[in-house]
Amino acid sequence: MTSVIDPKAIGKPQRSRRHVRTLTGYLPETDSSGKEKWPRGEEKIWKECSRHLDEDVQSITKSVVNHVQTSLARQAYNIDDLGAYQAAALSVRDNLLVNWNDTQLHYTRKAPKRAYYLSLEFLMGRTLDNALLNLGLKSQYKDGIKELGFSLEDILEQERDAALGNGGLGRLAACYLDSSASQDLPLWGYGLRYKYGIFQQLISPEGNQLEAPDPWLDNQNPWELPRLDVTYDVRFYGHAERIGETGRATWSGGQEVLAVAYDVMIPGCGTKNTNNLRLWESKPKRGFDLNSFNAGNYEGAVESSNSAAAITSVLYPNDHTTFGKELRLKQQYFWTAASLADILRRFKNLGKPISEFPDFVAIQLNDTHPTLAIPELMRILVDEEELRWDKAWEIVTNTFFFTNHTVLPEALEKWPVPLLEHLLPRRVPERHLQIIYDINMQFLQAVEKKFPGDRDRLARMSIIEEGVPKQVRMANLACIGDRKVNGVAELHSELVRTTIMKDFVEFYGVSKFANVTNGITPRRWLDQCNPELSTLISKTLGIDKTVWLKDLTKLEGLLAHTEDKKFRDEWAAIKQRNKERLAHHVQTTLGLTVNTHAMFDVQIKRLHEYKRQTLNILGVIHRYLTLKAMTPEERKKTNPRVVFFAGKAAPAYYIAKLTIRLIVNVARVINDDPDTKNYLSLYFLPDYSVSLAEVLIPASDISQHISTAGTEASGTSNMKFCLNGGLLLGTVDGANIEIAEEVGESNVFFFGHLTPAVEDLRYQHLYHPVPVEEKSPALANVLNQVSAGLFGDGGVYEPLLNTIRQSDYYLITDDFDSYISALNMVDEAYLDKDEWVKKSIRTTAKMGKFSSDRAIMDYAQEYWNIEQTPVPSS
Ligand SMILES: *Cc1c(COP(=O)(O)O)cnc(C)c1O
Repeated sequence: MTSVIDPKAIGKPQRSRRHVRTLTGYLPETDSSGKEKWPRGEEKIWKECSRHLDEDVQSITKSVVNHVQTSLARQAYNIDDLGAYQAAALSVRDNLLVNWNDTQLHYTRKAPKRAYYLSLEFLMGRTLDNALLNLGLKSQYKDGIKELGFSLEDILEQERDAALGNGGLGRLAACYLDSSASQDLPLWGYGLRYKYGIFQQLISPEGNQLEAPDPWLDNQNPWELPRLDVTYDVRFYGHAERIGETGRATWSGGQEVLAVAYDVMIPGCGTKNTNNLRLWESKPKRGFDLNSFNAGNYEGAVESSNSAAAITSVLYPNDHTTFGKELRLKQQYFWTAASLADILRRFKNLGKPISEFPDFVAIQLNDTHPTLAIPELMRILVDEEELRWDKAWEIVTNTFFFTNHTVLPEALEKWPVPLLEHLLPRRVPERHLQIIYDINMQFLQAVEKKFPGDRDRLARMSIIEEGVPKQVRMANLACIGDRKVNGVAELHSELVRTTIMKDFVEFYGVSKFANVTNGITPRRWLDQCNPELSTLISKTLGIDKTVWLKDLTKLEGLLAHTEDKKFRDEWAAIKQRNKERLAHHVQTTLGLTVNTHAMFDVQIKRLHEYKRQTLNILGVIHRYLTLKAMTPEERKKTNPRVVFFAGKAAPAYYIAKLTIRLIVNVARVINDDPDTKNYLSLYFLPDYSVSLAEVLIPASDISQHISTAGTEASGTSNMKFCLNGGLLLGTVDGANIEIAEEVGESNVFFFGHLTPAVEDLRYQHLYHPVPVEEKSPALANVLNQVSAGLFGDGGVYEPLLNTIRQSDYYLITDDFDSYISALNMVDEAYLDKDEWVKKSIRTTAKMGKFSSDRAIMDYAQEYWNIEQTPVPSS
């Protein structure tokens, strides 16, 4: 018998113990006082030889040199910054491993309920600096590295970002891992170990985005532990056959792929707890087909190995669009099947009956990408555990929780039924599809009972969307198979309840649909990226940084100091130095000189029409035209401004790429114009990443979050900027609203139409269009100048300009004038420097709510029902 998980393997060690002599053979038990009992007396040698954290500079230097000589096999004369980074990273990893091992042992022994965060993306960024700060070893390493003749600052720059994500959704997952460890929560992440992360963005001489692969694993990655002994078989294609009358089936034939585990250590801040992120790599089950090889068909022999390895080779670079590609569906199934098998094995080791599964396991689905976990768990419970359907369904619906990340229709995941039929096991019965159909049938019967004869409602709520081909609606499946559904900011959760999930709210009642406003980790997004501000805050509050970093509401204590002139001056001086740090970065990477006495205005995020970078660049052009029309004396009275953009566009997203091209070419003209260049300049920084964000965010005076109302679910970069004392210019959308509630409306700059108006305005555009000239003469003038070729061949931009002149789905014409007034208000406010600094301090002081610690504790308490499980410090 064959299946995705070999039932015989469950509950047994992965490696045959027969040939392995283990030190004790079992986990040491503890007596009632918590003291370990070691029955065979190896305790002494084991304890004496165990590695302990070495925290003094001398041991650190020794450990780094050791790694240079042994792990890297190099000598002092041929070690460069990269080698020094690798040796330092390996030495820090040794420390992490001690804590990681202790944590996993502690969780195993205590056997608390655990949570698992399934995310197809983890946008981690760099690790070394973060690990040093969380371990509290940064200053020791700084000294140790210096003794060896290197600078810690320089070697930190050698690390490549782990960029296994597109944008906000992936970065959120990374922040939640940091918070789970820092708050001592027993949580693991599960994802894929892509060989290539998000593409590297290059800009061509014409201003076009070019994509290059991101071979982040080319230098060995010191932060992962290959677990070559932790593997699972995952089967694609093939067929299932029913056994007798029980509803069970067995599964055979098809392609077999091996999932291999790689573990990434996630250190908490100011705690021993070090959680785990398990990433799966796909490998061919059998190296190659020996028969073909012997027959002289080498290519045929390695073919299966190529297609198996392809599954985890690349991250799909789409953000807020779906892409019905078979390989993507294969990734989703591969990852959910391996993760569930692993979770089930760990549960089985507890020796509890399967009915208690939801008492020990909670699984959070980050968006609909892991939704196949629902039919997969049903399959395991019915086919392998031999549970009755109802019993299995009760377990499933008490295990899963689902986070929705968007209400944009084009982003709601759907898979054609024929593709699922082809990929997943086929013939009588097509197992997963059969399960999905069975779930759907039972669900629709219940809906019919509650709303008799309402056929439209049944059609809307069905997991299957009729049409050619039929499609599986993943959000419906996720909603039906889950305990709870949440949106990611108050407004967004309300839109989920009243639009895409309205029918489901009427069916289940509203309590199933809740909100957890996103958060960000203050460790990376303040302490790490803005060390001077972190130090000033600790000094001003008079508390150790680990205290306020883990209870961010403590920042409110800063309010008492807003009237202290010396404090304000220090605050402003740090902002200025961060602006100089950014200018230095632009100078060394692009060779351009930035005016650090100007206001820094920043918009960095994925390029998308809904995020309206177009509105921003058209506003910049308007400002340029206005400056050009002034006399030199008039210009001198204006507020000098430097505008920064960064962000990637999905490679197939033509309009977004055209926006990048426009920004780059406008920058060329503006930055070269002697009339205006002292008052306005513009930079597009290529290859946006977590590390680039860490340099840009602390330098910002004002940042832009200007999505069409109702389209940005939450946003998290808005939180990062405000935490670093940058003010916010935005629409009344996503988490902007909650930020304004916290910091006070007088400290943010809002503009634009509100969510309820959006639908009416779109209707008007279609049926009663008003020409741009009438709606906004200022905007019409800007569009005409672009068409006329002020920034190079105007014809190139027509498709972009036409999206605005024609249906204008994202309401650029409706919001333009209000946007320009908001920009003017920002200028006016900035002229009063003292008041501006006060606004900046008040903003940081009120950002406590947006710590991802608050968010993760909310999930832990209100959703997963898991408890803090701190590892005792020995
Ligand atoms: C925070 C972050 C995002 C999310 O930005 P939004 O403006 O909220 O869309 C995307 N990419 C990176 C690298 C980030 O750090």
